[in-house]
Amino acid sequence: MNLADIQAVKEILSTPQKIVILPHKNPDGDAIGSTLALYHYLIAIGQDARVIAPNDYPKFLKWMPGTDAILNFEKQHKLCDSLIRQTSVIFTLDFNHFSRVGQLEPLLEASDATFVMIDHHQAPASYAKVTYSDVQMSSTCEMVYNFIAYLDGLDRITRDIANCLYTGIMTDTGSFKFPCTTSKTHRVIADLIEKGAENTAIHDRVYDTNSPSRLQLLGCALKNLVILPQYHTAYITLSQEELDTYNYKKGDTEGFVNYGLTMENIIFAVIFIENKEEKIIKISFRSKGNFSVNEFARSHFSGGGHTNAAGGKSDMNMKETTEHFSKLLERYKSKLSA
Ligand code: 5GP
Ligand code: MN
Repeated sequence: MNLADIQAVKEILSTPQKIVILPHKNPDGDAIGSTLALYHYLIAIGQDARVIAPNDYPKFLKWMPGTDAILNFEKQHKLCDSLIRQTSVIFTLDFNHFSRVGQLEPLLEASDATFVMIDHHQAPASYAKVTYSDVQMSSTCEMVYNFIAYLDGLDRITRDIANCLYTGIMTDTGSFKFPCTTSKTHRVIADLIEKGAENTAIHDRVYDTNSPSRLQLLGCALKNLVILPQYHTAYITLSQEELDTYNYKKGDTEGFVNYGLTMENIIFAVIFIENKEEKIIKISFRSKGNFSVNEFARSHFSGGGHTNAAGGKSDMNMKETTEHFSKLLERYKSKLSA
């Protein structure tokens, strides 16, 4: 954040504001961790802050301090609508384009609130008065830590805030193994542990919560794995029928896409998940090295994200989608050399 932006935020927060904090649709550990951490901080400095999630989020995040304060736009439409209309400041966290909030989009378009963006995805839109955007950052949670530091508020980081921030950094760095994990990330983590973050317990609560049906769904996904060695690529499909068979619940497929990358010589892994209700195939892309799945998702599947982790969607059926995908790979053959 530059000095002018820090000054602008200090100015905004120098008087009591009505604040709404928003994560993206289908919020993950970083989105929920960053919004809740900022929520606790803003309340502590005397602001009137609320968190509105565009829709529900996985059960393995619902232990987080402040979970009960999160409003769900899909379920509490009227209340959220009126809060957004009345609010003076809107923080958008872990996303950088209004299209990432689903049904909330028109309300944001119509809002005359002051927007503050904190985000680490590529190609930020220009809706915010203050845009704290840095694609080098491991996570929005690391950025919220920095944001609090810029406001001279590190002493106000409680155990609750530390737990929220730790969770998002852990999940977005793949437990500190992705290349975005820097020495600074580890310094932030060290400070969060000193401030009370329960690192081992957080890992257990997020990753060791498998139900038998989720493990069986994973078995099904791995059986469906298709390997395309000539493109150093592997993909998984899951149909709605398969999801139903294994009693799919939100969050159950989290991390499945990464299994493709655990094979030698595979640098591009994809999962295609059918969503009959929304009539789309939701896609997650992951890569190792320089192959930009952000560009791939942006160019071909109405998506985006980071160099090594991105998402998108397809309006075709599963068969057409995977055929289209496989054909596209020929164009990327030189970039997909391991
Ligand atoms: P995931 O595959 O875990 O859903 O998402 C991976 C990354 O890509 C996350 O940073 C997420 O915010 C981003 N992402 C996922 N889906 C989309 C999408 O449809 N559009 C854009 N722009 N980004 C996405
Ligand atoms: Mn993130």
